[in-house]
Amino acid sequence: MYTISAILSHVHAEASTIFDATLPIYELEYDSRKIRNGAHSLFFALKNVRDGHEFIDDAYHKGVRSFVVSRVDIDKSRYAQTNFIEVKDVLLALQELAAFHRRQFKKPVIGITGSNGKTVVKEWLTQLLQDDKRIYQSPKSYNSQLGVALALWNLSDDYDCAIIEAGISLPGEMALLERMIRPDIGVFTNIGLAHASGFSSKAVKLREKLELFKHCTDVIFNSSYALDDKLVPTMRTFRYGARAEDDVRVLRMEENGRGSTQIQLAFQNEIATFSVPFQDKASLENVLLCITVLLYFGYPLDTISLKLRKLKSLDMRLQLKKGKNNSSIIDDTYSNDLASLQIALDFLYQQQQHKKKTLILSDMEGLDEKLRNKLGTLMERQLLDRVILVGSGLSFLKAHIHAPVQLFESTEDLLAGLKDTTFENESILVKGSRAFHLEDVSQFLSAKSHETVLEINLKALEHNLQVYRSLLPVGVKMMAMVKAFSYGSGSYEVANLLQFNKVDYLTVAFADEGVELRQHGIELPIMVLSPDEQAFDLLIANRLEPEIYSFRILHAFLEFLADKRIKGFPIHIKIDTGMHRLGFLPEELDELTTILQQVRSVHVKSVLSHLVASGSEEHRAFTEDQIRRFAAGADRLETQLGYKFLRHIANTSAIVHWPGAYMDMVRLGIGLYGVDMDGRLALDAVSQLKTTITQIKRLPAGATVGYDRKGVLFRESRIATVKIGYADGYSRRFGNGVGEMQVNGQLVKTVGSICMDMCMLDVTDIIAHEEDEVVVFPDLRKAANAIGTIPYELLVNISSRVKRVYFYG
Ligand SMILES: *Cc1c(COP(=O)(O)O)cnc(C)c1O
Repeated sequence: MYTISAILSHVHAEASTIFDATLPIYELEYDSRKIRNGAHSLFFALKNVRDGHEFIDDAYHKGVRSFVVSRVDIDKSRYAQTNFIEVKDVLLALQELAAFHRRQFKKPVIGITGSNGKTVVKEWLTQLLQDDKRIYQSPKSYNSQLGVALALWNLSDDYDCAIIEAGISLPGEMALLERMIRPDIGVFTNIGLAHASGFSSKAVKLREKLELFKHCTDVIFNSSYALDDKLVPTMRTFRYGARAEDDVRVLRMEENGRGSTQIQLAFQNEIATFSVPFQDKASLENVLLCITVLLYFGYPLDTISLKLRKLKSLDMRLQLKKGKNNSSIIDDTYSNDLASLQIALDFLYQQQQHKKKTLILSDMEGLDEKLRNKLGTLMERQLLDRVILVGSGLSFLKAHIHAPVQLFESTEDLLAGLKDTTFENESILVKGSRAFHLEDVSQFLSAKSHETVLEINLKALEHNLQVYRSLLPVGVKMMAMVKAFSYGSGSYEVANLLQFNKVDYLTVAFADEGVELRQHGIELPIMVLSPDEQAFDLLIANRLEPEIYSFRILHAFLEFLADKRIKGFPIHIKIDTGMHRLGFLPEELDELTTILQQVRSVHVKSVLSHLVASGSEEHRAFTEDQIRRFAAGADRLETQLGYKFLRHIANTSAIVHWPGAYMDMVRLGIGLYGVDMDGRLALDAVSQLKTTITQIKRLPAGATVGYDRKGVLFRESRIATVKIGYADGYSRRFGNGVGEMQVNGQLVKTVGSICMDMCMLDVTDIIAHEEDEVVVFPDLRKAANAIGTIPYELLVNISSRVKRVYFYG
């Protein structure tokens, strides 16, 4: 906690307007959506993809009375009793504050960097050290210029040691991170190709990374990276490797049994053998580094061996799954500490699809008096409907929770208790440390799975949204297309994420799609592309705004509104500029305005048209013509109606190719879902259709596979049956070798015809076992090409019986 006046003396303010210099600040905020303790928060108006200054209003309404800003044109008279600190660079100010706070921490700080494995090494070290030390680790992958600053802010003398991760993507960044972290001990994971693009060479990249260690007393690394002569000569090094002069010598590594590896090490005069539950190279490198750090701290070999048994690989974090009775489960059962609990709770509140929020929380390791107080304070601030605690150590929390609380002694008791507890229409966060194996609870609450699933990565979707946003100038609004079940990716989960990310509008094809979104708490304005006369009452009842494309639909709607005596209902006018699907032709616009001028029941909120070939070089002239006709038509409407409305014509491809077509708003569709029709942008894949192998059999040459004996085998073959067929949306056209799937990273082809619920793959040449996972469309664009269609069709054809599994990561 610092007062405003203390903060002011550490951030190089250019000017300030201070209302209350003694106001204590507990929290730093930069995202107005996440504010929960407004009065004691300091809001940093950072310029990221969006300009934080735009959210000062929002933050103010949430109670924030202290701001760090860089713009001088803020009308401060609008904000009563508020502190404004003006700086040149808001991020730098945040970093200066973090650096100052870090300097108050007198115990060791470990700084981790390297190309890969930083987060894993950080988490593992925490796990390995936390039995006897109170460890503070930077949460998740908070390793950037902003992330590190936020991570350091939560450091306090409750901890014996801090482990902070530093990641860079551009030259010059590490010096800034080093100034904040100022690590005492450096840990270097490895050097690889990640993020190489910003650097001229591997050597430059390495030099930059080593900046982090500039003021360290000791640096720990794998001797094969030969860092010694690149470090300051006075630094002590502590290395592992296969050479005689290494501090920790790796004598042997041998795979044994199912999935584990034996490692034989020599340290000083002792030799020890460890068994670790991994075989992949990356995990082994990470685990060796962790062992070396423990040896550096003086742990005996046999203690380390015991500790290592607890280690598990890190996946499955913050997974969002479909639960029983229309619930959603957030599964975060890998670790439990205050920082990660905070993150998971934030994620829980982002889930708007259910009003009701439940937390299932296990006891934490190392809860002493201080941490108990902190946990108590954290819980007092929550807005939960129900809390289930596991472990008697948490009984003190009952007094701090405003919701009904149930307490179970153990996970077994909870599992028994769950049989009599009902969960429905709620978001449930299951948060626990490894020892409590709460994954059993989350599994119990999850809806039973059909084995074919469409996995949807909401973080990738968020990333894609930002990619397109970053192309747009300030002020251009974003309409996101969630029609056709969000291009097959599911409806309210996607809409919820878009709402959280503050898109301006959503669009569905039919009224009932919009109704479903409203029923799940989506409050954004929603446009309906093809409103149907039968559904007009649904439009009104659910505040859904119809696209009006013809005189027939206009008259029907006007009549309906007149009956109900409704005034000023928002509508959207579609002009047909060349698509020749829906819309008024330009020559019909005069007649249209004559009608609109006479009625008060509707208000034109926007005017739109659709481009036919915005991604095509060949049709550039046609596109230009469409844009011109649209602008002319909209101008005419505006003059005749005498008021302004939004204009929009650009779809995904036009966002890339036609900046001149942005107008007031763009309509983002396929790009959001990770399909880059032009292959120019760094989009992340959002959905992955996966199935499993049900059976494998060896068949002789000459045998045939499937209906009508279409799949003739010309050699002795191994044939795998997988659980996906045309009823799931896997087209029959993929039969007989046209379709390609991926098993254990290897491509295989279909054999014979595609059946309704199954099909067969030729796995003769690859390693494959029954129950192995199969990726159905390893390359969506290639698959679409193979059957003469486009990715859109493949995505939306994935049947609704295929379970959608959402995750964020
Ligand atoms: C589907 C649709 C879009 C989005 O198109 P993408 O190519 O997926 O970006 C935009 N406008 C209208 C009218 C649409 O129907």
